[in-house]
Amino acid sequence: MPKIRQENVTAAQWSPNGQVLGAPDLTVADNQVFGANVFTPAVQRQRLPKAVYRQLQSTLERGEALDSSLADAVALAMKEWALERGATHYAHWFQPLTGSTAEKHDSFYGPTGDGTAIADFSGKELIQGEPDASSFPTGGIRATFEARGYTAWDPTSPAFILENPNGAVLCIPTAFTSWTGEALDYKIPLLRSMEALSEAAVRALQLFGDETSQRVFTTVGPEQEYFLIDEQYYFSRPDLLTTGRTLYGAQPPKGHELDDHYFGSIPERVLAYMLEVERELAKLGVPIKTRHNEVAPAQYEVAPIFENSNVGSDHQQITMQVLQNVARRYGLVCLLHEKPFAGVNGSGKHNNWSMSTDAGDNLLEPGETPHDNLQFLFFCTAVLQAVDRHQGLLRATVAGAGQDHRLGANEAPPAIISIFLGSELSTVFESIGNGGREGAEPGGLLGLGTQVLPPMPMHGGDRNRTSPFAFTGNKFEFRAVGSTQSVALPNTVLNTIVAEAIDDLAGELRAGIEGGASLEDALRPLLQKSWSEHKRIVFDGDGYSEEWHAEAEQRGLLNLRTTVDALPYFTKPETIAVFEQYKVLSDRELAAREEVFVEQYAARINIEAETAATIARTMLLPAALRHLALLRQAEARMLIGETERLVDEFVDKIRALETINLKENQEDEPPAAWAKFVRDSVVPAMDDARAVADRLEKIVADDLWPLPKYSEILFIK
Ligand code: ADP
Ligand code: MG
Repeated sequence: MPKIRQENVTAAQWSPNGQVLGAPDLTVADNQVFGANVFTPAVQRQRLPKAVYRQLQSTLERGEALDSSLADAVALAMKEWALERGATHYAHWFQPLTGSTAEKHDSFYGPTGDGTAIADFSGKELIQGEPDASSFPTGGIRATFEARGYTAWDPTSPAFILENPNGAVLCIPTAFTSWTGEALDYKIPLLRSMEALSEAAVRALQLFGDETSQRVFTTVGPEQEYFLIDEQYYFSRPDLLTTGRTLYGAQPPKGHELDDHYFGSIPERVLAYMLEVERELAKLGVPIKTRHNEVAPAQYEVAPIFENSNVGSDHQQITMQVLQNVARRYGLVCLLHEKPFAGVNGSGKHNNWSMSTDAGDNLLEPGETPHDNLQFLFFCTAVLQAVDRHQGLLRATVAGAGQDHRLGANEAPPAIISIFLGSELSTVFESIGNGGREGAEPGGLLGLGTQVLPPMPMHGGDRNRTSPFAFTGNKFEFRAVGSTQSVALPNTVLNTIVAEAIDDLAGELRAGIEGGASLEDALRPLLQKSWSEHKRIVFDGDGYSEEWHAEAEQRGLLNLRTTVDALPYFTKPETIAVFEQYKVLSDRELAAREEVFVEQYAARINIEAETAATIARTMLLPAALRHLALLRQAEARMLIGETERLVDEFVDKIRALETINLKENQEDEPPAAWAKFVRDSVVPAMDDARAVADRLEKIVADDLWPLPKYSEILFIK
């Protein structure tokens, strides 16, 4: 049997590689694993001296720096807890601009001088680490002579233990800065943006008579899509191995046309995998809630219960890591790429976002009382205003090489940012805009004894899968985020731009109230004005349609089709202004991000192109030639000419790809020009080579074709 067919047979006969977990008796307390590997506040309360625990909590609540004796006490408790769980090392765990997490491990143990070693871990080691920043992208922030970087403990995200069959590591979530204090990571700006939004929202809430809320937290619940394939296919495809996506592959006869996969019953091996993933995540305190099949064959989704943006974003990184690690125990590989298979639905990450007071009140929840609804309309309007004003920036936060296959490709949200409100809420805003209350019922929810505002919808209303930014009842769902992306940056931007809009609106509202108007009378003209200025961002129709592209253009909305178009929005004057105003990122830090992302885009595509050329020349072309030799040997005259022409065409395309992707064509270009060149020349050359290869795949003898096919990879489970 040919090698690949043999792989199919083996792939179809899986058995769990690791140990079968069995089903523990969950009525026994010890079998409840949630948070077992987390240094939770509950563990802290148990292990820290009472005074230390109280001091730590109040320091955290006030957001102040920890003093060194407090840090020593926490470090001691943390070390003992970790040692009991088998941890031999600790790691400052951080999120550099690579988009993945980084960890530098240090042993707890140090020699004592008498030939033995003791475990030691001080407050200083807990609070600060010193990795070499030169190995991480800094976008020009760091000159080589100032390579030092610092990691700083983030006590608001709990430490956790990463288990490995041969030991365990205590991971301490940290922020990562250059020695000059600039943020080199995703966490610092996220924390700063949460602060900014909190202050703005608390100020605004006071206008609504809320004197008790001290803090407002932004919340995130990211739904993660991913593919699972048998590892044999993965390892026989150099493209998957090197780039995370297939660079070749003809369309399978069966795709998702039959709609038989979405929410279908989960294959047994996959379910076994999911159960173990969820158990691992539970131990790490990640509150996974939902799992199901996604639209494409071999595509799945996992979603947690939402948490505050900082913890939720750390948990999202952990989730991606665990999804990938556990897959190997089942002979599977988890693909997080946005578009692993051309022509097959890609993967995204729905970033559900809202704001919540410290008492747990969701500010985007339409309320039960007229007063609550005024407040809801205020915050909802702030979001509309922010998204309209900074649509280009929002689009930039979800840009990336993988995303260019997805956004705007009639399967994912379009590259045009717009907001779906649902017909009920749209009607409410429309009538506010008209200054009337049509559609309102007497004594309706928003009556407040006046005749201005219509009643609010009681529930989320209808749904629209084509919208990049949808109101879903009590939160907004930013659906354009890519499946490999960290959610930290999109949330940083959302928090910052909404803080600005809240402050703008609140300023006018305050002026109105101080001028003697009632809350409602002061608010109404404000909402009316904002709606008329920003309603162009609201679109409830089909985001995939041609008409929408035309209409969006008429409305003056941006349509930033590719990464290269979108990234410059990181350094537009309005971006720099809002980020400086809220001290979330300086212009230097913004410029650094733009530069890093541009370079990552170009470098990624260069790697893809080189991989594509190598596979073409060393795997696919030889297969085609062998096939041609067979045809000649068999004197299959009718087929020889056709195949020869295709082979010649393939050789041309391969040569073109190799030439265009030459390093010397590119290396002297400034990053932006390099990225443009890559998009306009290298990507089309890759596409051209692929088009011929995919035709060859359909005529070359199956036993000669060296790559597993889509029909095998996606359907054998
Ligand atoms: P769907 O989007 O399919 O309707 P859900 O309503 O269950 O699904 O929510 C999807 C995600 O949204 C979940 O991860 C959930 O935790 C998250 N979510 C729900 N409420 C909020 C909120 N207030 N803030 C942030 N995320 C939220
Ligand atoms: Mg959703």
